[in-house]
Amino acid sequence: MLKRGGTIGILGAGQLGRMMAMSAAQLGYRCIAYAPEGDNVAGQASDDLFANKWDDTAALAAFAAQCDVVTWEFENVPVATAGAMPEERIFPHPRALETAQDRLNEKRFVEGLGGRPAAYARVDSRADLEAAVDRLGAPGILKTRRDGYDGKGQWRIGSDREAQGLHLPEMPLIYEGFVEFEAEFSVILVRGRDGEIRFWDSTRNTHEDGILATSSLPAGEPIEAQVGEARELARQVADALKYVGVLTLEFFATREGPIFNEMAPRVHNSGHWTIEGAVTSQFENHIRAVAGLPLGDTATVARAVSMTNIIGKDIERAQQHLKAPDTHLHDYGKAKVREGRKMGHVTRLER
Ligand code: AMP
Repeated sequence: MLKRGGTIGILGAGQLGRMMAMSAAQLGYRCIAYAPEGDNVAGQASDDLFANKWDDTAALAAFAAQCDVVTWEFENVPVATAGAMPEERIFPHPRALETAQDRLNEKRFVEGLGGRPAAYARVDSRADLEAAVDRLGAPGILKTRRDGYDGKGQWRIGSDREAQGLHLPEMPLIYEGFVEFEAEFSVILVRGRDGEIRFWDSTRNTHEDGILATSSLPAGEPIEAQVGEARELARQVADALKYVGVLTLEFFATREGPIFNEMAPRVHNSGHWTIEGAVTSQFENHIRAVAGLPLGDTATVARAVSMTNIIGKDIERAQQHLKAPDTHLHDYGKAKVREGRKMGHVTRLER
């Protein structure tokens, strides 16, 4: 168990790290964030910030020497960077990054555990893409296998003709058949060092332009009927990876049951509502898990919860939300306002 006053290192320094650091401070820990130069807003809530490149071995060694425990908030931290931390002091184990960073690996791994992803095909060339569209049909979505987030690195393909006209990026790709889903939801769990697993309620998630827009409870049907099966898969994924911390799996609810979309080996945007809406938030439980503390209760405390992301310049008017009752604003403190950038969120509860 990490004793009070201990230091937690966080690889990555965005809003997820910032909210983790706020929970860590509450529990009496110090945090040091590590990320290349940028709008490192986790630094504002941490005791220190290493603004160094991911492959700066001297800086990584100095960082590791100052941390009792290391975790991450960003799933694209290079595996070699996580691997440069002492293996017995990094949670989750870097094998989770390795599995989740490549969409093809991730889908094969989840299929091996009995999960059902959307139909997919590996694409390394134009001929592969044409064969994939032939086999799986259109519409579909062409995605980069690595480094995609918030709908970036994705191209919707409506027909064979569109596939032929597309300028293919020079990187490993994957083509997915379009899933006619009824709703989207995520399963968020925390797994302790001793293997205990707890789940939060699954929200109904909506996306706009590939970016999460809202997460709300009660999720209603068909999500509520499909959560059990989805949780079983998430539990198997967490156990197979001997995972420690918060893990997220995203699903499409379809007429054929839950279809696995992707996993994130970290706290997740669709779990931000847990800060006010659950007995223990995803951030606090992540810190508890990596520190070896007992896990907190994940129960929802309200009749209804809705979390809305604040994107781009909408942050300038976000304080007006505070006029509404039981409404909580989180401004990530980002200096650069950009279109499509997550700047904050608002959570509203009905008790
Ligand atoms: P992703 O980054 O893969 O989670 O994709 C972002 C969003 O795009 C998802 O949450 C869906 O709304 C949509 N999407 C991605 N893949 C598919 C698919 N195969 N079929 C239908 N919608 C998809």
